[in-house]
Amino acid sequence: IRDSFRGQPAVPYVKSVQSKITTIVGAQWGDEGKGKITDFFAGKADYVVRFHGGNNAGHTVIVDGKVFKLHLIPSGVIYGDPLSVIGNGVVVDPKALINEIEYLKEKGINPRLIVSDRAHVIMPYHIALDSALSDHQKDLAAGSTNRGIAPVYADKMYRNGIRMIDLIEPDVFREKLDKGFDFNKGLIENALGQSLDHTVEEIFNTYIDYGKILKPYISDVSVELFNAYKNGKNILFEGAQGMSLDVDHGIYPYTTSSNTGAGHISIGTGVSFKSVNRTIGVVKAYLSRVGESPLPTELKDETGDHIRENGGEYGTTTGRPRRIGWLDLVQVRQAVRVNGLTEIALTKLDVLNNIDELLVCNAYEVGSDEIYEMPASLTDYRNAKPVYEKLKGWGEIPDNIWDKGFDKLPKEIKDYISFIEKRIECRVTILSVGPQRHETII
Ligand code: GDP
Ligand code: MG
Repeated sequence: IRDSFRGQPAVPYVKSVQSKITTIVGAQWGDEGKGKITDFFAGKADYVVRFHGGNNAGHTVIVDGKVFKLHLIPSGVIYGDPLSVIGNGVVVDPKALINEIEYLKEKGINPRLIVSDRAHVIMPYHIALDSALSDHQKDLAAGSTNRGIAPVYADKMYRNGIRMIDLIEPDVFREKLDKGFDFNKGLIENALGQSLDHTVEEIFNTYIDYGKILKPYISDVSVELFNAYKNGKNILFEGAQGMSLDVDHGIYPYTTSSNTGAGHISIGTGVSFKSVNRTIGVVKAYLSRVGESPLPTELKDETGDHIRENGGEYGTTTGRPRRIGWLDLVQVRQAVRVNGLTEIALTKLDVLNNIDELLVCNAYEVGSDEIYEMPASLTDYRNAKPVYEKLKGWGEIPDNIWDKGFDKLPKEIKDYISFIEKRIECRVTILSVGPQRHETII
């Protein structure tokens, strides 16, 4: 694919057709059910694209009772038809990528995949540095998955990084690796007082082998997607994590190390921000959080335990029990604003079945103030007390409701939805009432 762009401009022909670009992003702390919503749209997509993050993400998709757990390859891969794309904004652990390709093959899917030549590569020293960093950051550590994500992004900014293209160009790779290795070894051993059990030679040989395996997938993603756009193809962008984990707009430093917002699709794939038609924010009807940080609406009682068990709130990547809280509209309001959401997919409504009274946070009380927008101040956020509004629960969702449609939903669910829409000024257009592909109402 890469060579096909040689000797000709990106778009050698003329007419541009109306293309459809949809972005799906998390509006909370991740794990909102983006994998399921992406999968739902993937059937109509020609391309499904990841634009940030790495194998720290975890998406679960269930198709015909078969469970797929994906960390790096877009969830749309399960559909078979769309081309899966890993953009330059993603950081790639080549070993994890090779394993995931094998995992899919074992499940009967031979992934159609391209990976950006410009995507940065997670090296063994990034993984080693990650755990040393968490020790150093102590109470301000975000609760890293120790996959090397923060160090690889830092190396990119230091301009010590290795990119996918380098893995198939041994001389340049060696040049860059010598520099990156020394720097990171120095950090790990001299600055953080831990040891690095790898040699340059060993890393070089291993990664050149990875390069040989991955070479057929490496491509100029920006040009590929530009051509697709010009040809009227449908492109679906799949976010990982969620708004409050965005390194700029989230609860810094309790964030991930990439921009999770929809605005990042441009930088993370080389597709112009002007081209997007729909931006869907995925909102879970309550919230869950993996990792540290204050969590104003956290539930530490039986209701929280009930929701955790009912919703299977254990990390896809780490298996850690997720912290649970009531829906926080201060958080969702920010996601609507920053992402420019055109609509919301509200997920896991079934998990709130049979709870008599549902609480929803619409503001924070901080000292004598009420605030409606996410504060930058960690002091404010730490002191934030949720201002709740109470809504009536709905008992059970009727059986096979996805066949019967929205009108047959209990009145209390409809009230819950319109309450949310009014408070955040964004339409809810998709409801998810179970993990399976068909358990969805438009
Ligand atoms: P992601 O990271 O946003 O893609 O979400 P995860 O896959 O980490 O977590 C969402 C989990 O909830 C997965 O296990 C899904 O199968 C499941 N799920 C998604 N939507 C629903 C739903 O509407 N109801 C229920 N009960 N489970 C759901
Ligand atoms: Mg997840």
